[in-house]
Order: sequence, then structure tokens, then C-alpha cells
Amino acid sequence: MPATMQPLPRGARNPGSQSALRELNQKRVIDTLLASGPLTQAELARQTGLSTATVSNIVKTMAAIGSIETEPTTSSGRRALLVRLSNNGAVAVGIDFGRRHLRIVLASLGFTVVAEQFLELPLGHRAEESIDCASQLLARMLEERDIAPSAVLGVGVGIPGPIDQRTGTVVQGAILPEWVGIHLQDLEKRLHFPVVFDNDANLGALAEVTWGPHNTVDNLVFVKIGSGIGAGLILGGHPFSGSLGITGEIGHETITDNGVVCHCGNRGCLETVASTSVMMALLGTRAPVTTADIVRNALSGDAATLRVLDDAGAAIGRGLASIANLINPEVIVIGGPLAGLGSILLAPIERGLLRHAVPSVGEATALVMSSLGDRAEALGAASLVLQSPGLRRD
Ligand SMILES: [Zn+2]
Repeated sequence: MPATMQPLPRGARNPGSQSALRELNQKRVIDTLLASGPLTQAELARQTGLSTATVSNIVKTMAAIGSIETEPTTSSGRRALLVRLSNNGAVAVGIDFGRRHLRIVLASLGFTVVAEQFLELPLGHRAEESIDCASQLLARMLEERDIAPSAVLGVGVGIPGPIDQRTGTVVQGAILPEWVGIHLQDLEKRLHFPVVFDNDANLGALAEVTWGPHNTVDNLVFVKIGSGIGAGLILGGHPFSGSLGITGEIGHETITDNGVVCHCGNRGCLETVASTSVMMALLGTRAPVTTADIVRNALSGDAATLRVLDDAGAAIGRGLASIANLINPEVIVIGGPLAGLGSILLAPIERGLLRHAVPSVGEATALVMSSLGDRAEALGAASLVLQSPGLRRD
């Protein structure tokens, strides 16, 4: 068989030589650190498929020239070495658009946040106006930190709605009806950078396995409980995007047959009984309440708030049971603005999960609150940029 059937890697004149192999292995380490975030040496060996001795040599060489940084850490109670890419001045931008907010993070190759801004948006804002608003805020953030636009690798954007990845368009069912029909090119034209975008729950899941404490988990479900309810899936170590890119729409699982009409056009969806909008409506009959009020009132023991959260949590747990039965994840992470509630919300979700899942699956599934809080989606959007091979890397 001819030895040159495979295209030569760039810069490798003799693909069988020691230096070409070293170069390939270094590239594999860099790609893995961009895709998974900082990892211990042992985990880096597992994820690259290289031996621990090879990884150790590569890390030493790359640390000596300053392209990799290491720091001592502990993993499963043992001493380990955490490896991350050095900050070379390049930044990935993550933008999270919500129903009432906009958050921008600037992230380095080593998964550190260089800058972050949060802005409240009026309810029912027009998509184009919000994108322009983000563009101006981003320009100001770059200027303030003296970051040249050429150092921006690209912009990741999270949107609370289903995105058809075949056409690059926000489709019906979005919590932001004003965003339906928005196309990837609209974002690129107004943001003036290459853009990658995804549903916010998918980005939350990506953040948990890149920024979060779950870098070593292969199967994870991230559930965002907000004005809508959606799940992002990591299967076999990779984000799962289905055939259209629209997955994890658990907010539209039917919970009650003849329930309230949902904005998706169906009736009795999980979202119509357990979203934060429903909680705000139930608890706001005398005076309007916000999600922050719900968290505060629950923590101070308000009976009505606790009852509403208990009912919502049980319904969400029931919805999650069918996902757990289907994919048997190691971890289910709960995110969104109620993440600060801790066990107040986790307990009823766990009850619903255990009641409706196959016992062995329900008991083996770890259920936790997101430690990334409201930032998960924006951080995940930055991760999407770092692991997109199509975008330029300096
Ligand atoms: Zn629905």
C-alpha cells in the first residue's frame, strides 16, 4: 500500500519522522485543551489516547517555551498536575442573549475570564437592536482592555430557542418570538466577527464539561430552568446535536393532557407548569415578583413560594426521568436563575426523578446545581469558539 495515501499534515515533510510525530502529538494536546478546558495530565492522556509518558514530555517541552502552564492540584484525593494553554493575547467572545438580559465574556485560550459585562434588556426587545447593543458593548470592552479586534478568535452566541443548524436559523418555539427567523449571517453582519451560535441550554452543557467541575464526565444533562425549560446533552464526551441541531426540548414534554396552551402550539407542556414565568404568575397575583424575589422568599421560608417550587420541581423531575431512562447520564446539572436555591429545588426534582425513573438509573444519577450559575451559557458560548476548528487561531 502506498505510504502517502493520507494527506500530509501541514508543515510535515516526512510524516514518519520523529519531529513530525512530535508535532502531531503536540497538536492533539492543544486541540484537546481547547475542546475540554484545563485537564490533569492523567486526564489529558486519557482524552488524547497518548501514553502518560508522552503527555508528560509534551507538557514539559511546551511549558519550557511558555505555550502551556501547569499548576499542582488534587484529583480524587491524589496529587496531580493541572495543564492549561497559556494566554497568548487571543480571546474568544461568549455572548448570552436572554429574555431580559445580555451577558458578554471575553475568555483566554487557558479558559480564564479576561472581562465580563452584564446588561438588562427591556422585555420584548427587538433582536436587531439587542445584537447592535451587544456589538457596541463588545467594542467598548475590547477598547478598555486594549485588545485589538485581530486578537478576537470569534464570537459564540447563545439564544434561548431552538436553532436549525442546517440553515443556521432560529426557529419557532423560541422563548423570544422576536428572534424567530434570525440567521447566523444577521449576527455576523452586526457583530463584525465570525460567529458560531447555539441554543443556550446546549451551551450550558458545554460549559459544565469545559469550565465547570465536570470536565471528566462523558454523559451529562444540563437543564436550564428559566422562562423556558430546555436541556443540553453531552453524550460520549461530545455535545449531542441530533439531526437538526434541536435536542433536549424537555420543556415541551406533555405533562398534563388537557393543560394550558403552550407557546409551541401544544398543550400541557412541562414549561406551562414549571417555568419561572409560571412561578412568577402564580406568586405575583397581588404584587409582581421576580426570580430574585422567588429565591429570596424561598430561602426565608415563605410557604406559598416553597409550595410552588415543590410542585414545579416534582414535574421537572418527572420530565427528567424519561431522559435518564433513555441515556443513563452520570450527572444531571440544574442551571438557570434559580440555581441559588440548592436543595430547596433539588429535593423535589430528585423525588420526581426517583419516582419515575428505572430505580437503578435514578439512584445512580448524580443530581447537582450548576456551580457556574447565570454565567454558564456565556462561558459555553466562548468554549464553542475555542473548539470550532473553522475559526482562526493565532
Ligand atoms: Zn410547548
